[in-house]
Amino acid sequence: MSRSCGSVQNYFRQVDVFPELRRNQAILESLTAASARQGALEREFPRRIPVAVHSLFTTAEDDLTDAQVNSQIDVLNEDYNAKNADLANVPAAFQGLIGTPGLEFALATTDPKGKKTNGITRTRTRVKEFGVNDAMKSSATGGHDAWDTTRYLNLWVCRLSGSLLGYAQFPGGDPATDGVAITRSAFGRHGSAVAPFDLGRTATHEIGHYFNLSHIWGEARVPTCSDSDSVDDTPNQWGPNNGKPTFPHESCHNSPNGDMFMNYMDYVDDDTMVMFSEQQVRRMHATLEFSRADLGSPR
Ligand SMILES: [Zn+2]
Repeated sequence: MSRSCGSVQNYFRQVDVFPELRRNQAILESLTAASARQGALEREFPRRIPVAVHSLFTTAEDDLTDAQVNSQIDVLNEDYNAKNADLANVPAAFQGLIGTPGLEFALATTDPKGKKTNGITRTRTRVKEFGVNDAMKSSATGGHDAWDTTRYLNLWVCRLSGSLLGYAQFPGGDPATDGVAITRSAFGRHGSAVAPFDLGRTATHEIGHYFNLSHIWGEARVPTCSDSDSVDDTPNQWGPNNGKPTFPHESCHNSPNGDMFMNYMDYVDDDTMVMFSEQQVRRMHATLEFSRADLGSPR
């Protein structure tokens, strides 16, 4: 079974329903490039980001346990602080490129109205499967409305159609639908999650898109060596890698080290994706500075 992510598909849908996205993305891209030239950003890291998890289920057994939600938060805190044990699997050739985002994720303790909460909403729905059309993000269409997307990272967990594991909204889109959707069987560590996507890495990957990372092989819809992920320290790569490749896996004349297939933004299995690069981290930090400025507070 191969990883399938709907973020690019959702991007093109979002451009249709929210045309400002293109302009907002262009502005963010130029600010990101300028900050890369100038060096230091103003924001402080590490930062703590409040998370709202919206569990959507058709039968009570399908609802998520608190333990499963907490296991996902644990994975994010490991991966976004380069504290994941499997980081040791990075080949020596790429170890010097490992980046540390310095982001801490915590289930929200107050809701948008200021009431105490455990950060988890639970909604019974009649919708058996959702697609990339954002229906899970509105109570009018069988989902749950977002909590203020400028202040919370919203994660909707539901059954997604086909082999779709999840999708994110890139920065600059409609505030009403901002956040990440993840299918039940790829959420959290173990529990209801199903191998090879049972280590919580779908959320790590999708939140990378939420912070404006592209897939590591680039942006073209048809694989090619002539596109880019707008990140300089990831080797040029032809298309997605699936499963568990062995090092080195070469493409696009990138010998001797080949693709950085163990990067969270490739399509490999959960137990094979283990790192962000330094330049990816810089891109995420620029997004927090310029496009998601109200999200999170210094830790
Ligand atoms: Zn993706």
